[in-house]
Amino acid sequence: MPKLTDRTALVTGASRGIGRAIAERLAQEGALVAVHYGTRTEAAEQVVADIRAAGGRAFAVQAELGLADGIDILFKSLEAQLEEHAGSTRLDILVNNAGLMGTALPEDISGEWFDRMMAVNAKAPLFVIQRALSLIPDHGRIINISSGLTRFAAPEQVTYAMTKGALEQISLHLARHLGKRRITVNTVAPGSTDNGSELFRVPEVRAAMSQLSAFGEVAEPTVIADVVAFLASADARWITGAFVDASGGTLLG
Ligand code: NAP
Repeated sequence: MPKLTDRTALVTGASRGIGRAIAERLAQEGALVAVHYGTRTEAAEQVVADIRAAGGRAFAVQAELGLADGIDILFKSLEAQLEEHAGSTRLDILVNNAGLMGTALPEDISGEWFDRMMAVNAKAPLFVIQRALSLIPDHGRIINISSGLTRFAAPEQVTYAMTKGALEQISLHLARHLGKRRITVNTVAPGSTDNGSELFRVPEVRAAMSQLSAFGEVAEPTVIADVVAFLASADARWITGAFVDASGGTLLG
């Protein structure tokens, strides 16, 4: 039985990788999904087409996060399309997935790059939530996609890990704040996940990433999407403020 029939969902960064898999999975469960993207219009439209071809419901929403007007652009388009496809602007499920990755050793971090990483990975999710709150009903769901990297040292990833550490704070504090409305707010932390990037086709790189997981493999995006679909469902109604390690045992050391 589909678990999200009649629900609506926004998945940021759903034109590819983990976000795409989450969008497809939520649609399989019956949700009407807003497939948000930044720059890759064709890729996002393909995701929408694939969801529709599989019998699901979806539409695309473009907005560049990290820019001053990004949130406004996102919500104007989202609200108009929710109204058109669902007859109201109600948003049951928000998945903050869009994110920038990148490495720089502490000696090499530029202020400009640091600000951009923070703006997209930490500031944008907070303000997306702020703007979404009037659309999210009681018993809604907010799921923030962090990274296992907040739990172990990788010096060249310090900026990225800082942004995700900040994102995790949103889950903690907003979970307490929104508990009275039974809106749950949780963090999902993937480990190395094959997002289709060329990096995963380089055998030595893939082997090095694989051995980090207790399972000796990198994840497929669908395994992360399964965890998100669970947290979005009624079955997870008593889980809030949680850090859900979906790293395939990477954090076991
Ligand atoms: P990805 O393949 O690089 O895709 C990123 C998505 O985010 C794209 O849809 C992109 O849209 C969107 N995006 C990025 N910056 C944006 C911006 N400024 N404005 C609007 N949209 C933006 O990412 P992924 O590997 O699937 O990762 C998804 C999430 O999981 C990220 O938060 C990442 O930090 C986290 N994560 C990934 C891994 C991994 O190994 N892949 C591991 C741990 C955590 P366009 O392409 O259309 O611009």
